[in-house]
Order: sequence, then C-alpha cells, then structure tokens
Amino acid sequence: MTCFVLSPSHKPRMNRRVAQECQSAGVARVFSRSTPHTDSYHRLLTLARFRASDCVGMPPDAASWSRWIPSVPTDGTDSFVLVNAHVPLCTVSGVDGEGLQADHDGLVRVDIVIRDGKVLDISPAGTRDPPSDVRVVDADGGMCWPTFSDIHTHIDKGHTCERSRNHSGSLAGADDSCAKDEAFWSQEDVRRRMEFSLKSAYAHGTSAVRTHIMSGPKQAAIAWPVFHELREKWRGKIELQGVSLSILRFFRDEDAAAELADTVKANGGILGAAVSCTDRGGHADDIYTTCGEELPALLDVIFRLANERGLDLDFHVDENGNEVSKGLLYIAEAATRNDFKGKIVCGHCCSLAAQAPAELARIIAAAHRSNICVVSLPIVNQWLQNRDVRGLCTPTKRGVTTLKELDDAGVQVCLASDNTRDQFYGYGDLDMLEIFRESCRIGHLDRPIANWPMAVTSRPATVMGLGEHHGRVAVGGPANLVVFRGRCYSELLSRPQLDRLVLRDGRPLMDDVPDYRELDVGGEPGANKRRKSLDMDAGAGKRGKGGA
Ligand SMILES: [Zn+2]
Repeated sequence: MTCFVLSPSHKPRMNRRVAQECQSAGVARVFSRSTPHTDSYHRLLTLARFRASDCVGMPPDAASWSRWIPSVPTDGTDSFVLVNAHVPLCTVSGVDGEGLQADHDGLVRVDIVIRDGKVLDISPAGTRDPPSDVRVVDADGGMCWPTFSDIHTHIDKGHTCERSRNHSGSLAGADDSCAKDEAFWSQEDVRRRMEFSLKSAYAHGTSAVRTHIMSGPKQAAIAWPVFHELREKWRGKIELQGVSLSILRFFRDEDAAAELADTVKANGGILGAAVSCTDRGGHADDIYTTCGEELPALLDVIFRLANERGLDLDFHVDENGNEVSKGLLYIAEAATRNDFKGKIVCGHCCSLAAQAPAELARIIAAAHRSNICVVSLPIVNQWLQNRDVRGLCTPTKRGVTTLKELDDAGVQVCLASDNTRDQFYGYGDLDMLEIFRESCRIGHLDRPIANWPMAVTSRPATVMGLGEHHGRVAVGGPANLVVFRGRCYSELLSRPQLDRLVLRDGRPLMDDVPDYRELDVGGEPGANKRRKSLDMDAGAGKRGKGGA
C-alpha cells in the first residue's frame, strides 16, 4: 500500500487542500507530527498525482483535515449541524429572539442546522435533538460569524508599494509616489494585482468588496474594464463593487465629469470624489480637494450627475486632523440641497476628532439627517496621519474618527480595509478580522463590544445593497460563515485566527491566501518591484490624489 506522509502544517486550510487533492487522486494519506514547508507539500502532491494510477480502488483516507473541527464533511456534502458555536447576536436574523440568551459581550451559544448549503435553523445550544440524517460538527465553543463585507478598499493599486515607494510615509508622499506608479499600469498588471487581492479577501472569509478605482484618463481606461471582467468572474464568491476616484477639482470640467459619470453608470459603479482630503484639507492652499469657495458648487455638480443617472455616492472626506476641514458637513448640506435619494458613504472623516464638542455634535447631526454612512479606516489612518516626514517625531494625533459619538448619534458606522501594500499603506492583507481586531484596540470598541461586529458584516452589506441575508447568520440564508477557534473576544482578538474555517454555501473553503510570488512578472522574482529604467519622476506632483 502506498502512503504519502503529510503532516498538519501551521495552515489547516493547506491540510484541507491536501485532503481534497488526495481524495480526488484516490491516494491514501497519513498525518505525521513534523511540519512540512510549502515546497515539500508541492513535491508530495506531484508525486501523489503521478502515482494515482497505482492506487485505483484504494479507499481514501478519512483522517481529519483540521485540528479544530475534525468532522466537517469535505466530500462535497453541504448538510450538517454545527453545534456549540458562539455567534454575535447582532448578526443573527430570522430567529425568534426568545431563548437566545446573550452573554455580557453579546454572544449566544447556538446549534446551527445547515442543509443544502443554507441555514435551516438556529437554536440555543443543546436544546434540540439534531436531525438524525446529518453529521454533527462540534465547534467546541468557537465563534461563528457571517462572512465579511469590506466596503472601502483600493485593490486597483494594491501591491505596488515596492515598485513605487512612498519614501516619507506621509499622505503627500503617497500622492506623489502613487502618481508615479501610473507608468507601470497595464490591464495585465492591474488584473494580476486585483485578482491577488480578491483571492486574499476570499480566503480570509470576505464575501463582498467595494473598491475605489483610479479614474484619471489613463488609469480609468485600464482599470474599469478589468473591474468589469473580475466582477463577473468572481460573482458568487465575492460581490465586487467599484467607485470612481477623482479629486474634487476634477468636477470643474463638467463635460469630463459627465463622461466619467457615464462610464460609472455603464459599469454599474458608484460615483466618488475626494473632498477636503489632503494634509491641508480645509485650508485655502488645498486647491485639489477643498477648492475654496467653489466647494459647495462642485459638490452640486457631483450630486446632480448622480441624481440624473440614479447613482450612489462614496466620498473620501476629511482625511486629516484639521479643525477647518469640514467636508462631511458640506456633503450633508449638499445632499439636502439637492434632495438626494441615493445612498451616501463618507470614508475617513478623521478631522471630526479635531472638532470642539458643539461643532462635532452639529456635524454629526447633519450627517445623520442626510443618512450618511461613515466608514472608518483605522489601520491606514494610523499609518498615514500625523507622520513626521523627517522620521524623527512620534505621532500624537492618531487619525481616527469619532466612532463612538457617530454610533451613539445613530449614524451608520462601518470599518474597512482601505489600502493594501501600496503608497498609502505599506501592509495589509484584506483580512477583515484584522481590521476588526485593530479597530477594537484603536477605538476602544471593546467596551461594550456587542454590536460592533455589525460594522464589518451586516451593516456594510446593507449599505452595499447585497440583500437581506448577506453578512448575517440568517435562517433561510446561505451558510456563508467563518468559524474561529477563539471562543470569546479575548481569545478571538489575541491571535490572528488564521486557522479559521470559512464555509461558503455550507462547504469548507479549500483556498488559502495566494503566495506573493504570484505577483512576480514573467516568473522573475522582484520583477514586480521597481523598474530602474523608468523615469520615476514622470508625472510627479501634477495631481494630488487626495485620500487613501
Ligand atoms: Zn480610500
């Protein structure tokens, strides 16, 4: 009998993939205690495929695929009962609340019946006999969340930080180096990087992504068709939405603005702009995104274009710590003035933290009246805001909006990734658990924490118009769930939980995050990095992008 020895690696999903590959190849497998690295995994798998013909008729090994939840079916079955799972009550829907007793952190311990890929029933743990015809899977108290919705990203420019470096790490440095990166753009380049990001998000348990898209003449012509292509390709795995990204000053040219709005409409996108969004946002010398007294009139152009075409709006706003930066207030007033009926999202809103209490209350009330959803991007703003370009001073203003005050006033607040490995943020992997974890620490969202899971699940899903079940553990909805080993928040948020189980339509996801080497051009390591032959100063400083 031929056996291939494959041990549990530190990535349980790799183990799952091994299990599935071996099963389909009809070869046995045995787990050992030692840890193989990726190379040996690939070698063994190749060998397994090569020898498959020798093993015809051999029963596949039924060994467990994971240390944590050993009995989740990997044979294609999408019906089982997940028992003993801690679910944030705020994400549960379709259940009579009676009997679901939340603990001090808003968690309920439940059994979830999954049949034909859908959630059939949710009941307090241990109170009902599970159906006799399906397997029982014990989550052992681990948390079970709905899949994530990431409402603010920039996957068109992701993974460019090595080839076009932001040397200072500041927002101004990001604008300059981002403009230079345009020289590298082609459809192939954008497709490779966007798809890499989608694979990462998908593997981490995200089912919806909204990306802003660079919409200057050259980049729009490249990125929008790729966006359109990938949206169709990924439909059902990740619902992808696109927002045009231009500085406010762009809307002075009403013909060009109308042309962009038409492109957005044709691609089923959302119209966007960066408003009061540079380091000098709100000051007279910010001629790119504040535009002095023109600001209200330029907003009127945007609202009129959106009204005429039935488009939603998504702004970058007040990405600075300036008290005079009040783009959110201007947008709220423009919504009322233009009788706007679509959805409005405002990202960042960092300068709210610099407002005096009475002014803060006034701006928040205006945002609430206009039904504006505020999206905070805490990790990116921690990196980008209040940075000393000389690299000498430690930041003291931390760039986070008034999350709790907005939430208390009834404004919808979401948390999202923003940039990943580009000029605006040098790190990131589109892991929404990381966003939630760091937001909790940065914004003190953990006292109380009960309703904050909505900020990365059901709330962005609703704002994105994804249907009543998306981002929820919903009776009648698809079993799109993320099961963690952590049982309570102190366990969940202390470790990265990379061994999480992602279920899509009731089936375990086998995909792991992609290897960075996939980004290398033509198989040459480092080819995705800076090309020394290009004139790196081309286009520098001609256009402020204004906002991460
Ligand atoms: Zn952004």
